[in-house]
Amino acid sequence: MTQRKPEGYLNGRPLSPESLMMSYGYKPALSEGAAKIPIFQTSTFVFKSAEDGKAFFELAYGLRAPDAGEEMGLIYSRLNNPDLEILEDRLTLWDEAEAAAVFASGMAAISTTLLTFLRPGDVLLHSEPVYGGTDYLFKQVLPQFGIRVIGFRAGAPPAEAEAQLRRLGLADRLALMFIETPANPTNALVDIAAYAALAESLSGTRRIVTAVDNTFLGPLWQQPLKSGADLVLYSATKYIGGHSDVIAGVCLGNRSLLDRVKIMRTIFGTMAGPHTGWLLLRSLETLKLRMTAQMKNARHVAEFLNAHPKVARVHYLGNLCDGDPQYDVYQRQCIAPGGMISFEVAGGEAEAFRFLNALKLIHLAVSLGGTESLAEHPATMTHADVDPEERLELGITPAMVRLSIGVEHPDDLIADLEQALAAV
Ligand SMILES: *Cc1c(COP(=O)(O)O)cnc(C)c1O
Repeated sequence: MTQRKPEGYLNGRPLSPESLMMSYGYKPALSEGAAKIPIFQTSTFVFKSAEDGKAFFELAYGLRAPDAGEEMGLIYSRLNNPDLEILEDRLTLWDEAEAAAVFASGMAAISTTLLTFLRPGDVLLHSEPVYGGTDYLFKQVLPQFGIRVIGFRAGAPPAEAEAQLRRLGLADRLALMFIETPANPTNALVDIAAYAALAESLSGTRRIVTAVDNTFLGPLWQQPLKSGADLVLYSATKYIGGHSDVIAGVCLGNRSLLDRVKIMRTIFGTMAGPHTGWLLLRSLETLKLRMTAQMKNARHVAEFLNAHPKVARVHYLGNLCDGDPQYDVYQRQCIAPGGMISFEVAGGEAEAFRFLNALKLIHLAVSLGGTESLAEHPATMTHADVDPEERLELGITPAMVRLSIGVEHPDDLIADLEQALAAV
């Protein structure tokens, strides 16, 4: 376990993250005794002395190493702000990371992190499919900066990806490995440990960084740092925020990597504002409750869908069985199946649309991880931009519907699904 602040322990025993989400990293005495963290809605901070201001800037720009126990003071809210600092401290607990950086969106976290570690001539290797915005960044934006981007199918063995790199003569150019698992919307798993080992084996003088987008299962049900990843990325818009009312992102990892990411964040100006930080602090207090309720509800919903005659196929991690190589990956790197389910209705787009238009309780909307259940049609919505042939190859059929399960009563969710399937 990484080093925590003293309040992370009780009688020498580490406290569970959910027990610390209401207190860790916050000293009420520094805020007039306020029991809850105020919103530090300020752009700049007053220095006690010119000497303090000088010392803070020396640390902010890495001009010298901090003295023992010295922490950087508050300067300006593009560099740091109490709402973000406390939030970052709390976010490290679930993933057992040394450091965290919070961003204005998941895409801000991903793009800032990638531009920290990639340079012209470098190769980025990534799992496929990835989130639409990430896909656009990889295929349309990064090549403009002279970065070669190579994808591998989620579920493919690392030896295949390695052989492809070698065939192209690019194995020694690999700088960053990007993994999104489970893949959206098919729930295909990527073996984090196996790909991190490949990154390790191909690393020369420069270490290849392995980054995992953990938005779908984390931080409760999958902790990629424990599987050998160097960095964990989140769209905090999803489960971490959890109420579909805020856009934010996170990057976690060891201090030396995060120091580099934070310098880029300061210069690109991609940090989150104090109000976003405050909303996420509030969300973190109930993260475990929400994700547990969503995970349990999803089990009931999947059971219902598995048995329904108008459902052709269900893609749900809880359905994986012994003997399936994906099940072995699941057992090694996941703690629970989470709250995302995709399924194919019997038929095609027309049948899927009839189902979606008949829903009454579940909202027809993209995004995921919120308290309310959502349904969408990947082929024409979240994945509309994917090449149609590739879309089919990845298993995203016209009959597929993606569900994000919320915290409603499972019987009500099932009743809604039942009446909407009756309309198909
Ligand atoms: C939503 C999402 C993103 C992008 O996050 P934003 O907060 O919308 O910028 C990235 N990755 C995954 C897996 C997502 O679901």
